[in-house]
Amino acid sequence: MQQQPRRQQQPLSPSSLLLRRGGGPGSSFPSSSSSPPTTWALADFDVGRPLGKGKFGSVYLARERQSGYVVALKVLFKGQLRSAKVEHQLRREVEIQSHLRHRNVLRLFGYFHDAERVYLILEYAAGGELYRELQRRVAQRQQQQASGGASGAGGGGLGEARAGSCVGQLAEALRHCHSKHVIHRDIKPENLLVGRDGALKIADFGWSVHSRAGADDAAGGGDASDGDASASLHSTSSASSSRRKTLCGTLDYLPPEMVAGEAHDRGVDVWSLGVLAFELLYGAPPFEAQGHSETYRRILKVDLRFPDDELDASSSSSGSNKVSAEAKDLIRRLLARDPAARLPLESVLRHPWILRNDSSRNGQQRR
Ligand code: AMP
Repeated sequence: MQQQPRRQQQPLSPSSLLLRRGGGPGSSFPSSSSSPPTTWALADFDVGRPLGKGKFGSVYLARERQSGYVVALKVLFKGQLRSAKVEHQLRREVEIQSHLRHRNVLRLFGYFHDAERVYLILEYAAGGELYRELQRRVAQRQQQQASGGASGAGGGGLGEARAGSCVGQLAEALRHCHSKHVIHRDIKPENLLVGRDGALKIADFGWSVHSRAGADDAAGGGDASDGDASASLHSTSSASSSRRKTLCGTLDYLPPEMVAGEAHDRGVDVWSLGVLAFELLYGAPPFEAQGHSETYRRILKVDLRFPDDELDASSSSSGSNKVSAEAKDLIRRLLARDPAARLPLESVLRHPWILRNDSSRNGQQRR
């Protein structure tokens, strides 16, 4: 990344990606103004409190001065990006994310840079990380159980209504990504943010790839290497102590074809949707194990066990804490070893569990 003076068009990606005043349909940001197109600079923003910390910098709440529009400003240090050799990854992420327009995909409005930093202008997600929402809910349920109270239907996680709504919204977002030939490849609660109205937002495209159009989105097995999880741009946050404790992020969402080093396609996102559904319902991912090799083994075998079924078998199930048969049916259909056998996203959106729980599916307002 070259050092460039402020306001000069910078070489991260094509100039069409640069945010200019007067653009942006359907949003008050960028503001519709008759002023000539210009790129952004730090002086255009009032920067407020930190929202979180990433591996290469921090994210701040900010307000664009002219329009008053509130955004999240992600500040990345060029030196750190260079040392970690992730400039290409950032370029790809910016290019992909700025072209996606969907209610459930975090908008990247634009970017600029100065001598030392790159700034990403992002949609502000007031609800924070889905991972934290899940952790809070898991802790609450554990407390309720410890004090002998009923923990409510739907496993030890977010509950059926919220989990179903999240899975439905994510299926919508992934369908949009796939229609643009983008495979996300890193769906997990840490990479999902929540908007003010509870809407889910895919927020991290650091591992995503733009697959070749017309090739049915096939990405070779070797393709995964250009997005090494250990070089993730988003690995830690202010909540780092509550992060998963694996060396290079979680392995729990890896699909069998990636574990086996086989070629992969958009089916990887469908698999991770199944893992997410399980984790949101039960509070832990389905193939969790003591060590990496045991996790790998369970993934390769698709060793899928529902904790409440096992409790049933040992006859001590309370009944109030059970996940519905419909939810389990969807999870089984998503977690198929053969990527081609996984339920297509269109069918996910018509699945009875989604229709029952994702209120957007039946025209009501989401939570
Ligand atoms: P990242 O570097 O993308 O992992 O971001 C670090 C942390 O900042 C995240 O874990 C979130 O807690 C917070 N954060 C990042 N982007 C946003 C956003 N657009 N809106 C609100 N919070 C954010």
